[in-house]
Amino acid sequence: MSLYLKNAEYINPKTLEFSVCNIKVNEGESAGIEFVNEIPENSNVLDCTGKYVTKSFACGHHHIYSALSRGMPQPPVSPKNFKEKLEYVWWALDKKLDADMIKASALATGLYCAKNGVTFVIDHHSSPFSVEGSLDIIADALDKIGLSHLLCVELSDRDGKTAKEKGLSETENYLKSKKQGLVGLHASFTVEDDLLKKAVALAENYNSGIHIHTAEDKIDGEITQKKYNKSIIERLYHFGVLDFPKTILAHCIHINDYDRIILKDSPVWIVHNPESNMNNNVGTFNSKNLSGNIFYGTDGMHSDMLRSAKAAYFTGRNSEQIIPATVYSRFRNTHSYLGENSFTGDSDNNLVILNYDSPTPVNKDNFYGHFIFGIDSSHIESVISGGKLIVKNKKLTNLNEEDILDFSKEMSVKLWKKLYN
Ligand SMILES: [Zn+2]
Repeated sequence: MSLYLKNAEYINPKTLEFSVCNIKVNEGESAGIEFVNEIPENSNVLDCTGKYVTKSFACGHHHIYSALSRGMPQPPVSPKNFKEKLEYVWWALDKKLDADMIKASALATGLYCAKNGVTFVIDHHSSPFSVEGSLDIIADALDKIGLSHLLCVELSDRDGKTAKEKGLSETENYLKSKKQGLVGLHASFTVEDDLLKKAVALAENYNSGIHIHTAEDKIDGEITQKKYNKSIIERLYHFGVLDFPKTILAHCIHINDYDRIILKDSPVWIVHNPESNMNNNVGTFNSKNLSGNIFYGTDGMHSDMLRSAKAAYFTGRNSEQIIPATVYSRFRNTHSYLGENSFTGDSDNNLVILNYDSPTPVNKDNFYGHFIFGIDSSHIESVISGGKLIVKNKKLTNLNEEDILDFSKEMSVKLWKKLYN
């Protein structure tokens, strides 16, 4: 049964035209919306008088696997640099995950995504010693909440041959089952040539792409240059990673002028994760001489894309003199990536309903000012995914939030006991 949004102030996400209207929201992965004059009697109606309605959001780079890290114990030795942070914190955590913890991580992340208006999640998963079936566990949890997704497993040589082989099998099984997936790789410096070749072959066989951390910290480039006598971008180009329009390169901070030329001539997309870059103190993204194929992610820090967009604006003011219109365009580019690559689950029937109590007029001409300085996740009242209401009056409709958080707390305690032992 279609849902009708009555008397909504619709903001067209592309043109930013405002119009007060009744919206018929059709159900289904590829369905859309219609503007109607009359609402039939006995319809399913949500009164949106005084509310803004616009397209919901997408996260271009998430790490569901890190959801149970909030407040976790510190490692016995404090990391001194980025590589040690990976070794002492993230690789210590991902090695200890089990199926239940992955499920709890996905449910908790899905809960926050939904409530923050993020209806499409592009995730980069890592659980090297519990990888079999992990993507299905994540997909199932996100499906239950009502979110769409594009998943992958972070393949690497860092945990030995067995973990690598299992990761490759999990990736292939997932892609074979026709679910929306990419071939994930950790980063150039932990991926040997043989694995890189196998990953590209998988992407080719299943008409997919690669999702890889790229030049996040200097160390990735330094090790790659020393071992392979190439920059990271040259190496990825050499192996064909940059041939796929579905390829996502996360970060791209430490790239040189020649790398930028290679990237500009390729169809790949770059995902900028501003808060993560600041948190890890790895440097600042600069889009100089790159194409417009740039969108935003959270890198697992949170699930609030409006917050990421604001952070991208503030950090970009200094590094690349960014303007709000560019931030908004990158914020919405994830939809272009998904649409151009024919992924499903991001049609026009994915919407947020905002109760935005602005102290000043809101219109097409000043929208960017409200986008950067006003509208935030506290204004998200309801969320529609695939034409279905998945958040109503700030509460999930499909699952019980308290149950999810009780479960994730229980699994956090279980995980933390295993850490550093
Ligand atoms: Zn990441």
